[in-house]
Amino acid sequence: ATPVALTATTGTLTRDGVLLTRGFALEVLPRVTTVCLDKTGTLTDGRPRRVATEVHDPAFDPERALAWAAALERHSEHPLARALVAEAGGQPVAAGVENHPGEGLTGTIDGHHVAVGGASLMPAAPPTGPNTTPDPLASPVWLAVDGRVVATFWLADTPRAEAAASVRALQERGLRVILLTGDRPEAAARFAERLGITEAHGGLSPDDKLAHVRERQARGECVLMAGEGVNDAPVLAGADVSLAMGGGSSLARTRADLVLLSDRLDRLPGVFERAGATRHVIR
Ligand code: ADP
Ligand code: MG
Repeated sequence: ATPVALTATTGTLTRDGVLLTRGFALEVLPRVTTVCLDKTGTLTDGRPRRVATEVHDPAFDPERALAWAAALERHSEHPLARALVAEAGGQPVAAGVENHPGEGLTGTIDGHHVAVGGASLMPAAPPTGPNTTPDPLASPVWLAVDGRVVATFWLADTPRAEAAASVRALQERGLRVILLTGDRPEAAARFAERLGITEAHGGLSPDDKLAHVRERQARGECVLMAGEGVNDAPVLAGADVSLAMGGGSSLARTRADLVLLSDRLDRLPGVFERAGATRHVIR
């Protein structure tokens, strides 16, 4: 009866829009105590918009800053990268571009050293004040040229419509819901509050995310990690069970035990339900 039950559950999950890529996940799911969620692209729709641009150097105007940033971002499939590239016009070509997962990119343009990304990639403390854009959830991405921060792009990502309800449904099942993000701690806190998540950790590198999950496991927690990016691959691999968004990076999808085919976060609570039902049949 066991293979039959498994097959039936797998079929039901697929109809629900959840692809089960590793059968053992069904045995782990009923033991899960903690759901860790990545922010960008997982809890948000992954289509950030640029809501403001500040330039800090007279050699740059917003268009030129955007063009230089996009020259690097063209080499990334990060949602922030896609947002900047989509808006850039005629741009220079960058050479020697390096991707720093969870941080941004570096390279050279016309012999100048260029970096685009978060604070950890910036040569000096970025000259950016608090978020005064119309969108309270906007976060800064900086552009540095030859060791000087020349521009700040404020990008705002929209929480998925079903995100708050999905979080609540998980919490009502007795699961601990945690936000893990590379975005700034203040952005993480504000975002978590919006969605009813009571514990949020920001400023995390991909390795920090993994370390966070490992600590929980050492305390006896059983962790499901949901993510979407290339930079989520390490933490997805380290979790007890992993789930990737279908619209996310191919690396995350191929590493995950479960894939949300249509990115429907509200299907996640039901996954726990189905897995529980399978276990009863197997017993
Ligand atoms: P999250 O954990 O929310 O999915 P990431 O780990 O993907 O976030 O990224 C963390 C931070 O690193 C971003 O908030 C941004 O500041 C910076 N970053 C990462 N990749 C890029 C990129 N391609 N372009 C600009 N900034 C980036
Ligand atoms: Mg992400």
